Amino acid sequence: MYNIDDIRAILKNKLSEKRYEHTLGVEYTAAALAMRYGADMNKARVAGLLHDCAKYFPGEKLLAKCRKHHLEINQYEQDYPELLHAKVGAYLASSKYGVQDEEILSAITWHTTGRPDMTLLDKIIYIADYIEPNRNKAPDLDEIRELAFKDLDECLMTILSHTLSYLKEKGSVIDPTTFATYEYYRR
Ligand code: FE
Ligand code: FE
Repeated sequence: MYNIDDIRAILKNKLSEKRYEHTLGVEYTAAALAMRYGADMNKARVAGLLHDCAKYFPGEKLLAKCRKHHLEINQYEQDYPELLHAKVGAYLASSKYGVQDEEILSAITWHTTGRPDMTLLDKIIYIADYIEPNRNKAPDLDEIRELAFKDLDECLMTILSHTLSYLKEKGSVIDPTTFATYEYYRR
């Protein structure tokens, strides 16, 4: 069992107020989803708390940390280094927060893009990040929030397709991992 208060205390010092509020929102939402789907409560809360623990680093710093600690950088991450906050977050979770649990580290690593064949905890954190109470910009949030507690995979699929159409609309390049996740769950 990881100590929730200890992790919170460190994060409160590191993150901006807004990011910290988002972090608590993800923690609570992940806890609620863990109750609904029978996931480990402590792991869900810790993964929720730490998912954005590297978000305060600028892109250049994230790239530098990856190089220093030999974390692989793909072409897409090279072009959009902010994405690396997930991978670096998992690295910090283990090196600075003492979290060695593979399930937690995986959920942090994949919280931005998802991945094919996600674990229950991966899905919970991915979804909690999207629906936590402080979020208000995405379309159909009420329906998606309801769906999260009815059918986790259906909810995941809805978020992925919203995310892809949003990226398309913006004319952004579509991150290959998000696309691979979508293709995997579309079947
Ligand atoms: Fe994030
Ligand atoms: Fe987040």
